[in-house]
Amino acid sequence: MAGIYLHIPFCKKACHYCDFHFSTSLGAKADMVEAICKELRLRKDYLEAEQVETIYFGGGTPSLLSADELQKILDTIHQLFSVSNTVEITLEANPDDLHAEKVRELSHSPINRLSIGVQSFFDDDLLWMNRSHTGTEADSSIKRAQDAGFENSNVDLIYGFPLLTDAKWQHNIAQIIRLDIPHLSSYAMTVEQGTALHHFIENKKHTPLNEAQSAQQFLHLLHQTDQAGLQQYEISNFAKAGKESIHNSNYWKGEKYLGLGPSAHSFNAHSRQWNVANNAKYLASISQNKVPQSIEILSLNNRFNEYMMTSLRTSWGTDFAKISRSFGTKYLTHMKARLIQFEEKGWVIQKNDHLYLTQSGKLFADGIAADLFIVDDEN
Ligand code: SF4
Repeated sequence: MAGIYLHIPFCKKACHYCDFHFSTSLGAKADMVEAICKELRLRKDYLEAEQVETIYFGGGTPSLLSADELQKILDTIHQLFSVSNTVEITLEANPDDLHAEKVRELSHSPINRLSIGVQSFFDDDLLWMNRSHTGTEADSSIKRAQDAGFENSNVDLIYGFPLLTDAKWQHNIAQIIRLDIPHLSSYAMTVEQGTALHHFIENKKHTPLNEAQSAQQFLHLLHQTDQAGLQQYEISNFAKAGKESIHNSNYWKGEKYLGLGPSAHSFNAHSRQWNVANNAKYLASISQNKVPQSIEILSLNNRFNEYMMTSLRTSWGTDFAKISRSFGTKYLTHMKARLIQFEEKGWVIQKNDHLYLTQSGKLFADGIAADLFIVDDEN
């Protein structure tokens, strides 16, 4: 089973915290759709005839594409790949794009899952982030999507930024629960180099982020979602039973995926490839029938480290038998020796030949995984 990811590199406004690849100049949108269709043709053999189980329009802001543009890409995929009858097709959408006509069009398209970028229901937070929508639009877009039959939707929320008091954060989560959203992705705000947020903090125009606030709000998140029956199946992802994202779960399970468009990554278990993160260079190269990409061949250590980083964050945990099978017993012995320190702190537990994070360990997930990595000179 494989996935296809399409990166739509356009946004109406630049959110101050965002370091994804996008352009706010929308003039090349039609050319980009043509180029992505052409890249699909150039790379039609990448998935080696594996059936496509998920298609994900990410970005950027894919809800800026018209229904016809989305359909053109989907038609091209169907012409070139074997697509499952039960394919999950997700579209990331910003609330201000989900007006009545757009939602009606989408409800008549093959797209069966929306991922709505709400981030907060408070206007002062949204203004601080430089989002393109208001809290009222966030709320009404969700209700419109539900009324149109999108039952399998996700909402994104961000926590851990100075304006967000604990009371506002608890209100945001409660709103998701009240609206009966079956899937929530929630990430802590981070300050990435090159973003406006980084610049504002460096120049003392914004208060720096506070790690203790972020940790406290993460614990609120765990508590409120648990009470509401939204199961945490990955550190930052919560879902009602049966509403987990198949696309993202496949990433974490190490399934193959093909990524198209500027900056998109692809993975086939042995290598990782990524396209140039520049719209003009991407378009010029595709027009010459050349995919502008770089490749990294993954060593056994790379693959083990990647497995540790992703599996430990999930509710299905790190599988000891899989480590022995895929990497060899030496890797399992190394990991078991290293994890004792974390067991003593109560951050991980071993159960049924799997390793899991405890509630307190979830605060340190990436650090624990990184400590279990094997670096090349340890071989
Ligand atoms: S809409 Fe999404 S991709 Fe675009 S700038 Fe904002 S966070 Fe980044």
